[in-house]
Amino acid sequence: MKLPPSPAITGVSSLPAQGQKLQTPSSPLPAPGSRLHASSIPLRAAVSERTGGVQRAHPNPVIPPTTCQNAPAKGSGFSNLPQSKTALPEPLRIEPLATAPPPRGGTPLAPIGRPSFLSANLKHTMRAAVLHHPAPIASHPLRIEDLPIPEPGPGQVLLKVEACGVCRTDLHITLGELPPLRDSITPGHQIVGRVEKLGANVSSIQIGHRAGVSWLGGTDGTCPLCRKNRENLCDHPTYTGYSVNGGYAEYAVARADFLIALPEGPDALHLAPLLCAGIIGFRSLRVAEAAPGDRVGLFGFGASAHLAIEVLKSWNCEVYVSSRGESHRRLARTLGATWVGNETERPPVPLDCAVTFAPSGDVVIAALASLRKGGIVAINAIHLDRIPQFDYDSLLWGERQLRSVTNMTRQDGRDFVALAAKIGIRPRTTTFRLEEVNDALQAVTNDAIDGAAVIIP
Ligand SMILES: [Zn+2]
Ligand SMILES: [Zn+2]
Repeated sequence: MKLPPSPAITGVSSLPAQGQKLQTPSSPLPAPGSRLHASSIPLRAAVSERTGGVQRAHPNPVIPPTTCQNAPAKGSGFSNLPQSKTALPEPLRIEPLATAPPPRGGTPLAPIGRPSFLSANLKHTMRAAVLHHPAPIASHPLRIEDLPIPEPGPGQVLLKVEACGVCRTDLHITLGELPPLRDSITPGHQIVGRVEKLGANVSSIQIGHRAGVSWLGGTDGTCPLCRKNRENLCDHPTYTGYSVNGGYAEYAVARADFLIALPEGPDALHLAPLLCAGIIGFRSLRVAEAAPGDRVGLFGFGASAHLAIEVLKSWNCEVYVSSRGESHRRLARTLGATWVGNETERPPVPLDCAVTFAPSGDVVIAALASLRKGGIVAINAIHLDRIPQFDYDSLLWGERQLRSVTNMTRQDGRDFVALAAKIGIRPRTTTFRLEEVNDALQAVTNDAIDGAAVIIP
């Protein structure tokens, strides 16, 4: 797969400059967020405690234009895809959201950027959580193993993982509700990392930069849906932590052109939940066509919804929350919900739109029954138990719509991260060590924590 020559991939920032309108060319959906201006993301040169030792100033490496290839791991189920010429949907360049941290100790350090220098500083093995066979969480199906640190292929980078969020999709993968695509997999697709090493032909980001990886790890860029700027529906996608190894590990590789630039200021544990729970929640609001001032229902109030409500509050929406957990309902009240009820209660007013987060068809029907005419329910779930039979005349007629939310586009990710920085979204998190990854999955299964679970490897 060929990339355009380097002049075509320079000079375009992944985020708009301050005051510039956010563009959402890749989203065919109405974008309430696009009215908002990109924030002045805090530019801090703070050196994080966890990773300070590996950050230094870096020169711009001069890398000749050449080929980039998404190389799914052997046995991924995606390796037999036809290789085709790739025209990237948009020029991409990851710009740092903060100045590179200064060298420590006052002595200028030698520039980093050559693998030979780096390899001397890298250890050769890493700890990673590996799923060999889907199984109930109680049987602790994820095992911590020592594995070779992966090498970034052409167009990829190696990231040292600072934090990785736990998503309900990881449960579906671990339980086998999403069929296995490879013999073994390291899940995790909300990765906050530092670029540690560049594969060949990567010039869009530099070593030491902070970047995020989300569920959409790559696309072919050439299928009919990619060409219609609907890359979330790509026919040949790469899914982080499902078709390629993810972030429940000390290191991960990712495609450089699918990285999301991250600000330096927040702790990694507060950025990780933004990268799927946050982005998908944001996309769900777009799919539901939530507009400023609307009455919006959130059915279920976990990792995704507790971030979506902050977006809605910034749009002056009235938010109606139904959730089965008392602690979730308490959190919803704390975060400014207009009305909070249990899972069987109907909001007291008809809603303009709603998003369902629970993997339950009953909840979808409850949401549908809460809509006014012309309202939209967006289902934010990769897996549902079933959709029960329901009455068309009273629940769907009147141009009510039922829509699913599938994956995300890079633009969704970049727009949301910019908005989150602007309005100061700070996820509620509970952290787990890598060795506690099964406990983290169990906690998500049981709805036992408020906000998001995050693995700190
Ligand atoms: Zn996810
Ligand atoms: Zn495609």
